[in-house]
Amino acid sequence: MSGIVYLVGAGPGDPELITVRGLRCLQRADVVVYDRLVDPSLLNEAPARARRVYAGKSPGRVALRQEEIEALLIRHARAGRVVVRLKGGDPFVFGRGGEEALACAAAGIPCEVVPGVSSAVAAPASAGIPLTHRGVASGFAVVTGHCLGEDRVDWAALARIETLVVLMGAARLGEIARLLLEKGRRREDPVAVIERATLPGSRVWTGTLEELAGEEMGEIDSPATMVVGEVVRVRESLLRDLDRDLDDGEDDLRVPIAGRAL
Ligand code: SAH
Repeated sequence: MSGIVYLVGAGPGDPELITVRGLRCLQRADVVVYDRLVDPSLLNEAPARARRVYAGKSPGRVALRQEEIEALLIRHARAGRVVVRLKGGDPFVFGRGGEEALACAAAGIPCEVVPGVSSAVAAPASAGIPLTHRGVASGFAVVTGHCLGEDRVDWAALARIETLVVLMGAARLGEIARLLLEKGRRREDPVAVIERATLPGSRVWTGTLEELAGEEMGEIDSPATMVVGEVVRVRESLLRDLDRDLDDGEDDLRVPIAGRAL
């Protein structure tokens, strides 16, 4: 009897933001192969007997290579096990989930994708920033800020999109801002950087593209999501209406958390 591989999105951080279906898969897993950004408390949802395998990368810890992860998923499923491949956010948004689905298909292993709440939408939402807003933004793009210049990202085209979400850019925020300015984005365009969205200690920085371009954002921790566009002003209006202090851009206000009243 063949097992199955579930590619499950764990959500953006807060363990309550996994889907009901994702949680059900986890509760019947024989093997859980999980990434770095997955909240450790989610692993307690798997049966005590389930094998838990760490597959993430972090300093000082040896990561499994992508081929090793794929081979592991296939080996356990072939042995008849229910395998949950648990990934941060959505498995098909910068998560290499597509490659794992293809590897399962090529090996003739049943595989099901359980979509997750991606940080690309959840990080802005948790900070009170809608990615689309009537009369303000009718579309958005999500890109990686990981390898500027070496990737296939057309930054000139992206600079024209109303709302731009940049993942994996925490270490290069200034560089990204300068690139967008160079490609024609306006200096006064509002920007937000949301750090550790939906998790304890989450912080939000807001300012303009020009400010970000000139700043050394040394204190921004990963994971962080950057949003550029007029929609960032919606957060400011929300906070203003909530009568909270908004001083000069930098704020350490308690961030409205997804799922709680703003
Ligand atoms: N598949 C994931 C994204 C993986 S790439 C998803 O759909 O969410 C990892 C990047 O996601 C991080 O570098 C960061 O930009 C973003 N990210 C993940 N968790 C986050 C969080 N809690 N707060 C802010 N950004 C987050």
